[in-house]
This record gives sequence, structure tokens and C-alpha cells, in this order.
Amino acid sequence: MLPDFNFIEAVNQNFDRATRQMNLAPDLAHKIKVCNASYTVRFGVQIRGKMHTFVGHRANHSDHIEPVKGGIRYSPDVTLEEVEALAALMTLKCALADLPFGGAKGGLKINSKDYTVEERERITRRFAAELIRRNLLSPALNVPAPDMGTGPLEMAWMADQYRRTHGTDVNAMACVTGKPLSHGGIEGRNEATGQGVYFATLAYLNSKNADRLSFPKTTVEGLSIVIQGFGNVGYHAAKFFSAAGAKIIAIGDHDGYVQNPNGLDIEALKLHHAASRSILEFAAATSHNQASEVLNVACDILIPAAIEGVITEKNADQINTKLVVEAANGPLTPGAEAMLALRGIDVLPDLFANSGGVVVSYFEWVKNLSHMRFGHLQKRREQSLNSQLIKELEGQGMITFGPEFKLSAIEGPTERRLVESGLEDNMNETYARMEAMQRKHGGNINLRTAAYIVAITAIADRYQTMGL
Ligand code: NAD
Repeated sequence: MLPDFNFIEAVNQNFDRATRQMNLAPDLAHKIKVCNASYTVRFGVQIRGKMHTFVGHRANHSDHIEPVKGGIRYSPDVTLEEVEALAALMTLKCALADLPFGGAKGGLKINSKDYTVEERERITRRFAAELIRRNLLSPALNVPAPDMGTGPLEMAWMADQYRRTHGTDVNAMACVTGKPLSHGGIEGRNEATGQGVYFATLAYLNSKNADRLSFPKTTVEGLSIVIQGFGNVGYHAAKFFSAAGAKIIAIGDHDGYVQNPNGLDIEALKLHHAASRSILEFAAATSHNQASEVLNVACDILIPAAIEGVITEKNADQINTKLVVEAANGPLTPGAEAMLALRGIDVLPDLFANSGGVVVSYFEWVKNLSHMRFGHLQKRREQSLNSQLIKELEGQGMITFGPEFKLSAIEGPTERRLVESGLEDNMNETYARMEAMQRKHGGNINLRTAAYIVAITAIADRYQTMGL
């Protein structure tokens, strides 16, 4: 986290702004806002003949629905306050997306680059063991996922650690999401957050909110995009926008940014990054060393997809875009958002824009609990019905279908197609709920406040139904 950014204060300010618009008892608002429980563990791992002590956190922000859900971040700068702020966002994000989860988040203070893969595995398994013995990693109670600095590999180690200690738990695989496909994962989870950012933007472009902007409606084709962060979320967002015809004119990472006004070749940049461990010196672009200045590059859509607190009152006046899409959690301070609003720049809030990851994590969790591939039971039956239907229609000479359509209609959707369409549908429905809330408030609230009100209302309803 950047040193002078108070993440939890930013989340609380947004929360208070929303509750001022609601008819919600202050005591209930307070209960929903505060973090339920936070844990810090300190554990030792022998590495190259020396005992290394690691500090890890897990914050369970709200267990109004269990399990609680939220990623685990590996970073040398991670703090408990940061984890609590991220956990609060998870509570609100799950409620906004109508997912049956409370909110949590975890973090391990580590610079992964200092350790080999084998050492990282031992550290991760030890961290997982600490979480497991406190019920902070469990399919029924607490289900982590990847976040900054973690990915499918760390999730596979954690799931395996749980399975080893809970050999009789038939749902062991569902203790964590974002696993590799070979370890109980689901098609499309790795790219889900980036793809969700793309679907979120499409939902906005097709809505009344986009009317006053000079965007072509319905697609991103031809729009210029700038992305900060070339990790899981940034890379996949770049890939989906680029495939839909947008021009990614600049991408930033921790050590600088690269720029090409005609659009960057994302796959070539990915290969360059994998080979040189940096996006800089990419042949088909100009390289710049001032990492934070990527945010000032003029574009139609700016996508911060790295860390929190990068757009503040200090640099908001230099932002030169029409729309900011918060792929990262908490990239804007409330003050910066107010400054952008005065200049007519809209913001798609993190609660909504980066919810694709947890939506597909939900699909993975359900798949693990059902112990069956999506569509497995009905697939053969549906194929034979579809095939019969096509034969009947063609036999009556009413219509002739092309071979490609016939094949896909008979085969039915793959797991990837089901995940993608489920994700798109969820993003559209969530956007519609936010827009309806804006309408209810006469158009006088922004999308972030609308998102918070939808989420807080759902949580408050749950508290009231439970009689708590
Ligand atoms: P990641 O570790 O895969 O990538 C982060 C990238 O940001 C790295 O390439 C890193 O070099 C870069 N970066 C770090 N500090 C930077 C700086 N000061 N300036 C520019 N770039 C910097 O992480 P990720 O999973 O892509 O997560 C990125 C953001 O998205 C985080 O805010 C995370 O909480 C959020 N998010 C992630 C997921 C997910 O499924 N992974 C889901 C929802 C939200």
C-alpha cells in the first residue's frame, strides 16, 4: 500500500456517503461497517539453514452469510489495515453481485522474488496450516482465492494442505478457489477478473450513463485504453479489450510504462515480459521510467489494475480520460473521485468492475460442492434432442442450417462458454441493479454510491431476516 493512503478511511467515507442516502438505523449501519474479526499469525520456516519468521493476516469482515470469501495477497508491504479494508470491499462486493458469501481477505508479508518455487511452496503450506487450524481456510466457513502476488499454484498448495489434514471432508476441494484446472479449478477463472472488467465496461457503454460521453455505443472498438498493472488482471483486461478492437495505447507496471499510439500487441508484450521480467524495452513501443505517469496518458478509458491509492487529490487534475474503470481495489481516493466528477469523468467502482473474479470463484465453489462437471448429467440427452430438432426442421424443408451452427447447437456449450455467459449475465444484472438505484435517487448519486447502497441494503435485509 502507498504510504500516505488510508485505505480503510477511504472505504468508510464511501460507506458513510451511501448510508446518508439511506433510511438505515445508525446502529445497524455501524455493525455492517466494522470488521468482525482479524487474525495475525507469525510462523517460522527453515530456509537455507536459517529460521525465517513470516507475518500473515486474515480479516473476516462479515459473516452474515458463510462461508466468507476473499483473496490472499502476497506483498512485502501488506498490513492488517489494508487487509481489513480489502475484506470490507469483499463483503460489499459479494452482496452487490448477489453471491451467497460474507467478506474476508488475507495477506502474507513476503517478497516472493526472494524465494525459490520450492521455498514458496513450504511457506504457503505453513501459512495454510496456520489458517486451517483457526478455521480460516474451510469449504463451509472461509474460502480464499488469488489476489495480488498469488495465483493458481498457491491455491493448489493450500487446497492440498487442507485435504491432507481433512482427509474425510468430501468437500475439501471447495476450501479455496482459483485452483488450476487439474486440481479442481474451473475453465475461465484465471482470466475472470480481467474479462469481468471488459463486461463491466460494455454494460456501462450500453447504459444511459454513457449517453453524455462521445463513445460509440455498444462496443469498445476503436477506443483508446490505458492500463496500469500488467499482472493477472491488467494482462487479461488488455487481452479482452484488444480482442474486441480497442487500442491499448499504454501499459504500466511497477518499473515504468510502454506506449504506442497505434495500439500495443498484447501477446507479444506478454512474451517480452516473460522473457525479460519487465515490460520496458519492448521493441514495438516507447519505454518510460516514471511508472505513475502512465495514469496521465490521454485516452478514452483509463484502467488502474495494480494497487490502491494511485489516483489522489495530488494527481487527479492530470488524469486525461473520459472513464476510469477500477480493475484494482481502491485505486481512487474519494477526494480524487470528486475532482474527476467536476470534470465530467465517470468512474466504474471496484465493487462492480472487478467482481468477475469472485463471480467465477462462486461457480468453481459450486462445481466443487456438486462433484460434477457443469452440464455432465444432461449433456447427452440435450445433444440428441437438439440433433432431432434440427433434423425435423431441415426435413420439412423449412430451413437449412450452416455446418458450424449445427455443430455448436448439437454439441451444446462447453464449461468455458457456460462460465463466460454466466459471468456476462451476472455483470449485466449487477449493473442494472446499480442503475435502478441511481434512478430511485433521481440520478443524484454516482455509480459507487449506488453500488454501496445496493450492497448495504442486501446485508441489512439479511440481518433483519435473521432477527439479529
Ligand atoms: P498481480 O500480482 O498479478 O499483478 C499486479 C501488477 O501490478 C504486477 O504486474 C505489478 O508489477 C504491478 N504493480 C505493482 N505495483 C505497481 C505500481 N506502483 N505501479 C504500477 N504497477 C504496479 O495482481 P492482480 O491479481 O492482477 O491484482 C491487481 C489488482 O486487482 C489488485 O488491486 C487486486 O486486489 C485486484 N483484484 C484482483 C483479483 C484477482 O482475481 N486476481 C480480483 C479482484 C481484484
